[in-house]
Amino acid sequence: FLSCDKNHKNDLALIDTNESELSIDAKVEQLLSKMTLEEKVGQMNQYNGFWNVTGPTPSTGDAAKKYEHLRKGYVGSMLNVRGVAEVRAVQKIAVEETRLGIPLIIGFDVIHGYKTLSPIPLAEAASWDLEVIKKSAEIAALESSAAGINWTFAPMVDISRDARWGRVMEGAGEDSYLGSKIAYARVKGFQGDDLSKPNTIAACAKHWAGYGFAESGKDYNTVDIGTSTLYNIIFPPFQATIDADVKTFMNSFNELNGVPATGNKYLQRDILKDKWGFKGFVVSDWGSMSEMINHGYAKDKKHVAELSANAGSDMDMESYAYVSELANLVKEGKVSEAYIDDAAKRILKVKYELGLFDDPYKYCDEEREKQITGSKEINDAVLDVAKKSIVLLKNDKDILPLKKSGQKIALIGALANDKTSPLGNWRIGAEDNSAISVLEGMQQYPNNQLNYAKGADLVTGETSFLFELKINTTDKSEFQQAINTAKSADVVVMVLGEHGFQSGEARTRAEIGLPGVQQELLEAIYAVNKNIVLVLNNGRPLTITWADAHIPAIVEAWQLGTQSGNAIAQVLYGDYNPSGKLPMTFPRSIGQLPIYYNYKSTGRPSANEPNSVFWSHYTDESNTPLYPFGYGLSYTKFSYTNLKVNKISTNKIEVSVDLKNTGKYKGKEIAQLYIRDLFASITRPVKELKGFELVELEPNETKNIKFTLTENELGFYNNEGDFVVEPGDFMVFVGGSSNAVLEQKFEL
Ligand code: BGC
Repeated sequence: FLSCDKNHKNDLALIDTNESELSIDAKVEQLLSKMTLEEKVGQMNQYNGFWNVTGPTPSTGDAAKKYEHLRKGYVGSMLNVRGVAEVRAVQKIAVEETRLGIPLIIGFDVIHGYKTLSPIPLAEAASWDLEVIKKSAEIAALESSAAGINWTFAPMVDISRDARWGRVMEGAGEDSYLGSKIAYARVKGFQGDDLSKPNTIAACAKHWAGYGFAESGKDYNTVDIGTSTLYNIIFPPFQATIDADVKTFMNSFNELNGVPATGNKYLQRDILKDKWGFKGFVVSDWGSMSEMINHGYAKDKKHVAELSANAGSDMDMESYAYVSELANLVKEGKVSEAYIDDAAKRILKVKYELGLFDDPYKYCDEEREKQITGSKEINDAVLDVAKKSIVLLKNDKDILPLKKSGQKIALIGALANDKTSPLGNWRIGAEDNSAISVLEGMQQYPNNQLNYAKGADLVTGETSFLFELKINTTDKSEFQQAINTAKSADVVVMVLGEHGFQSGEARTRAEIGLPGVQQELLEAIYAVNKNIVLVLNNGRPLTITWADAHIPAIVEAWQLGTQSGNAIAQVLYGDYNPSGKLPMTFPRSIGQLPIYYNYKSTGRPSANEPNSVFWSHYTDESNTPLYPFGYGLSYTKFSYTNLKVNKISTNKIEVSVDLKNTGKYKGKEIAQLYIRDLFASITRPVKELKGFELVELEPNETKNIKFTLTENELGFYNNEGDFVVEPGDFMVFVGGSSNAVLEQKFEL
């Protein structure tokens, strides 16, 4: 691995000359045998990008200490190093100045793109299109790898049922089955088939585990859940990433049933490494090791390092616990050196697989960076996935698609002219104002008269990732201008929702309606013109119950990334017929949370005693959601008929249905199959998604669709964590949402 740069000052004699012929495992073993304990621990230490490496060398403070550690070989990885020149500079120190010249692995939160952004992950999940989701991860890898990055902290595969939690924007929604398929696609997209290529990067399944089940949706909060939820809901998407050969896992900030995930041996050693045979490494979340002190689980930093290492956390992100304590803990016999060897080996192996030992600068090519960043291929792909992520929630009187000429259109709302919010959160590589706004997108259709009026600001004061947003805008001084613009329009398009930083980490909301004065603005405009198309830009389900009752057309456009405005305009004008389906239930009111389609039946469901008050319900709200999981309309209509269920063999069921396009437009339907196991040794949900198909149909065209159910779909995990398939009675449901239209019973 030293052959790439002849100017090394390393101890060349330490390296075998014939090592290129060895397998990766053998190379790792050989290298490990030459490492001191401190160097092995160094591999387990990750630092944030800490100074401008291409600038003057730091001589004081934290940066100076980190710099010294880097030169000694006590740093295995860095995150948030920005740009090829900076990556090259830190890599050069690791490769040329340390004794063994072991390259760094360079991590970054490439969550939905690097400079060119795809829709936020929740939005992409609404496409249910595994090919485009994979492609989106692929181009994120392409662009970020050209900027020197070789490891992303993605995908986040946490399932969550609580829209108050701001990080739902970063996942695939509430369902484990859909979430698992998407998790697999994303890992494959990032890592490709050959990790050693310069355009693929290592992926990271996070956050292990249970992070999405924080009590009351409050970020970092306590998670206390039973085995059944853990095994059947939380674990499957993580298992899917292992099937996709994910190289790394990240643990999480939360405690799980009393033990912080970072110090959780059951999760990291027993399940992940022993039971599932995971061969990659586990990085801690940012400072999550040290946070065990606040959790009340560790006494001090030394204890933190001991608990984390023994529990199987392989790399310390920014707790400084391993680098300062671990070698001593080994010497004192509190942590076995075998654990250190195991962790260092796992980390080195991924570095070999990335090809970093063959060429540590393979991701550092300014020419490639210039060619690839923001290329047409990348922009075309993000536009494609953006269109496919949009969900049509309501379209009364066929107000959509808009006519392309002769119309007077009023465009209203601060978000309509916003070039930053549509980028969503986790956009650290991207520039402000780099998104196409809705205004710009609609200006591409010049044969209508388009008049824009802001109406009101969404936020006041400074906005950035690290600032609390000031959303208590009360200024209504621009309402009147918007009202005047709306009065004389044929159609009003209002773009309302959340600011781009209003969802994401630490962005828990206790109210999830339209923030600020937007609801008032909506009602004020409605008072003068009822012909409104409401376009939502948001990172989570919102309680838009009033809008649903009054506004004729509602388009869920999430935060769609760089090409947002183009995607929205193409859908509004019918150049793309919307096909997305909700990956997360929309509640009617906040008190319904957590709300999800695959709940369990109580002993007192409403059907049993329709006229009684003694059933499981709210006295002041319906049990039903505003929009269910899997829901989404099209400009055309679809009908499902002819459901047939055939038992092919033991534990193999074939389900067939006819799907017809009964409307006027060509369109794509996402046909969904759900099952219910009617009685079992562990109670089963009232419905569980177990299959879906994307079907494109011309008007009047019918296609027969077939689904196959095998034991993977028919079984479940019992409370011992064993996967079982139990014979008995099942229901199958097929339709265009979790409120499926056809159902039939079958016996297994
Ligand atoms: C987040 C992780 C992220 C890490 C590094 C943490 O605050 O929870 O998801 O990867 O920071 O930026």
